[in-house]
Amino acid sequence: MSTIPFWLAEPREPLPRNELSGPADVAVVGGGITGCACALALAEAGLRVRLFEARELAGGASGRNGGFALRGGAAPYPVLRESIGAERARALWRWTESELEALAALAGDAFRQTGSLRLAVDEEELAELRREHDALAADGFAVEWDDELAPPLAGRYPGALFHPTDGVLQPARLVRRIARRAAEAGVEIREHTRLESREQADADAVVVATDGYPSGLLGPLEGLIVPTRGQVLATEPIDELRFEVPHYGRHGFDYWHQRPDGRIVAGGFRDVSLDSEFTAEEALTAPVQQALEEFVASLAGRRLHIDYRWAGIFGMVFDFLPVVGRVPGEDGVWVAGGYSGHGNVLGFACGRLVARALLGEHDPLLDLFEPARLLAS
Ligand SMILES: Cc1cc2nc3c(=O)[nH]c(=O)nc-3n(C[C@H](O)[C@H](O)[C@H](O)COP(=O)(O)OP(=O)(O)OC[C@H]3O[C@@H](n4cnc5c(N)ncnc54)[C@H](O)[C@@H]3O)c2cc1C
Repeated sequence: MSTIPFWLAEPREPLPRNELSGPADVAVVGGGITGCACALALAEAGLRVRLFEARELAGGASGRNGGFALRGGAAPYPVLRESIGAERARALWRWTESELEALAALAGDAFRQTGSLRLAVDEEELAELRREHDALAADGFAVEWDDELAPPLAGRYPGALFHPTDGVLQPARLVRRIARRAAEAGVEIREHTRLESREQADADAVVVATDGYPSGLLGPLEGLIVPTRGQVLATEPIDELRFEVPHYGRHGFDYWHQRPDGRIVAGGFRDVSLDSEFTAEEALTAPVQQALEEFVASLAGRRLHIDYRWAGIFGMVFDFLPVVGRVPGEDGVWVAGGYSGHGNVLGFACGRLVARALLGEHDPLLDLFEPARLLAS
């Protein structure tokens, strides 16, 4: 059994090496999906960019997640409509759909468009999903209702919402691929280098793209994107392929899918010990791993050998909206993060959004994602 995430165990090709002489225009901190997407966008606009990653590329949540590539945000669509208004909710979802298309264009075989299946575990969740289905359909989004699930889901879940444009990633392969494009566009990538201070960055501007991992660079915002642990496992490959589409139920507390080789990748069950999972410690715990193992056995109808187990940290935000823009009171420091566990597509999108903001373009989404709101909360 390995504690290296299944995604990071895939061998990688060396990247083209660049060394910028002198200061950079922008230092990007964090070599995950956000940092790499941001660095690529800035380099393509002609800026001199240096990216710092304390570990390896995708060594944080971007190489440790469940692999779901979902449109939308962390809050259900009807909840988002209530909190930010119908028009802005529709615009945000449309934006994530078009960013998912842009991600797919860069991803190659790191992305498969399978759709995703959001399951209701009881009548209450069923009513919520119905409401979400109706709101999405009324706003013109492609969405399907499914109340006749195939075994082994039949009888266990009373219904589900199918999102046809979603898909599944090999997330580390995606990040490595974007990093390669960034290096080819001139970005200097420094892995295994932790940036300790604004001064050490030697750049006109700094973008902190560390989501739930404490960077020490966020001044008054430090800790307000709350580090939260998620745990995942990957089983031995099995012959029956039943879950090629990403499945998630119980308000996202359980999620799983199967790789084309038959492995089941399953994560969640944070609610087995919710309080102890608000931590930046990337450790496995017996109660969560045991719950995951039993859940997978119940899906497969027998105990499976577990080949990989891992943990990762994501950043939770009180209103479930990303945090993108200037860090208040910190000269030339920007942030993009806080995806509340929904960062594969949002990270890509917000990395590109913060790059555009740095280049002087004011997208209206930046008003919604304004970092200063964390201080007011
Ligand atoms: C277990 C788990 C399952 C998840 N499942 C899904 C999913 O299925 N779908 C989905 O959309 N989202 C999922 N997420 C959330 C998603 O993975 C993250 O939101 C996203 O990957 C964040 O990307 P990022 O690039 O912003 O940050 P990260 O990928 O976390 O990268 C941040 C990097 O910053 C580095 N760093 C920190 N401080 C410094 C410093 N001072 N100097 C240099 N480097 C520094 C860290 O080493 C780290 O590599 C999951 C998260 C976890 C933990």
